[in-house]
Amino acid sequence: MKAYKYLISFLILTISSQTFAQSNPAGVPAKEALQRLIDGNLRFVQGKSQRPNQSIDRLKEVSKKQNPFATIVGCSDSRVPNEIVFDQGLGDLFILRTAGQVSTYASWGSIEFSVAALGVNLIVVLGHSSCGAVNAACKADDVPGHIITLTNAIKPAAEKVKHMDGDFLDNAVKANVAFQVMSLRKLDPIISKQYNKGQLQIVGAVYDLETGKVNFLSEEYIASITK
Ligand SMILES: [Zn+2]
Repeated sequence: MKAYKYLISFLILTISSQTFAQSNPAGVPAKEALQRLIDGNLRFVQGKSQRPNQSIDRLKEVSKKQNPFATIVGCSDSRVPNEIVFDQGLGDLFILRTAGQVSTYASWGSIEFSVAALGVNLIVVLGHSSCGAVNAACKADDVPGHIITLTNAIKPAAEKVKHMDGDFLDNAVKANVAFQVMSLRKLDPIISKQYNKGQLQIVGAVYDLETGKVNFLSEEYIASITK
């Protein structure tokens, strides 16, 4: 226990003295960051991707310091590579990907790091159509191994939409994103504080595997499905 406390103190000291010294509180404002993502996705959907910031010069530039303008909490699914679908490049996006974009402690710490140390002002929770993890949560009671961590986290959203009109999986994918957005907004101590100050925006979106389009969820939908 004592050793554990020393380790925590060491980590806090290390993080405050080194990493946070590079902190960039004046990161790209949330509204501008969101527009960059919307514009990038539009280019991708239209087959007009510019593949920005992927040159050797950019590689050298970001090797010194990273300054991502958004954090994406997305699914591990191989068909949703974030830099490609948002048409971004090296050093642009801070990305966490787990199946069903389920977050637990390590993810939360990483998200906090992006906000507190890197000055990110926009977090996007990005689900996608036909998500296998959400499908498993909708259908199977028994899943092997640690996959249960994912399905257990997604089940409340699936339960919520079980009797709704429309496609069960589509509804569950959307609801899961909305639930995750709300959880992040309440995540103490760093994220909730920045969100309540209005400094940080946390939005939800669903990527369509067939069209490549990222559809952002409305605040009305998020509020109604999570109440
Ligand atoms: Zn998925």
